[in-house]
Amino acid sequence: MARYTGPVCRLCRREGAKLYLKGDRCYTGKCAVDRRTYAPGQHGQGRKKISEYGLQLREKQKARRIYGILEGQFRTYFSKADRQQGITGHNLLRLLERRLDNVVFRLGFARSRNEARQFVLHNHFTLNGHKVNIASIQLRVGDVIQLKEKSKDTPLFKEIVASLGQKTPPAWLELDVNNLSGRVVALPNREDIDTTVQEHLIVELYSR
Ligand code: SF4
Repeated sequence: MARYTGPVCRLCRREGAKLYLKGDRCYTGKCAVDRRTYAPGQHGQGRKKISEYGLQLREKQKARRIYGILEGQFRTYFSKADRQQGITGHNLLRLLERRLDNVVFRLGFARSRNEARQFVLHNHFTLNGHKVNIASIQLRVGDVIQLKEKSKDTPLFKEIVASLGQKTPPAWLELDVNNLSGRVVALPNREDIDTTVQEHLIVELYSR
């Protein structure tokens, strides 16, 4: 599965916003966005005049980068959202939120979505009791993910488990700290999705 493997702080600097792609480091003074408030590259500090199209493009790139999705797949999500009933922008965010790697991250089993994706690929979780290693699987109401017994005792997960529950999961997810599992209790509403993405700009971009 293809994914971006370059320096991620550069992506935040390009968007001029913290995208929280590196886990704990994002909350420290080492964050590149805090230290260098301009875009990367030779012209990063040049004059900024952004067109309407530019604004829409940046918003789409921001969403893609937050969820770690490549262009083609993002377009597919948009087409799917557009075919669904309701507000396209909300449908799009809902599809992105229901990805398995995002759910692992939102429940607190990983410190970033990148890490969550890696945990899923390395088979650290089960979905409804079955083996799963596809990060993009769409979860449905009632689905349960659980950290595998074998993975619990690794030093990395011991550390993660110790901090489980410190961050409250969104209302559409339920965390069971004792069983190291999480359940989807509802489909996410827009107000449940904690993101700075202005989805209407993405809809405008793709509607051009
Ligand atoms: Fe982005 Fe985190 Fe890097 Fe800061 S530390 S630039 S928020 S990835």
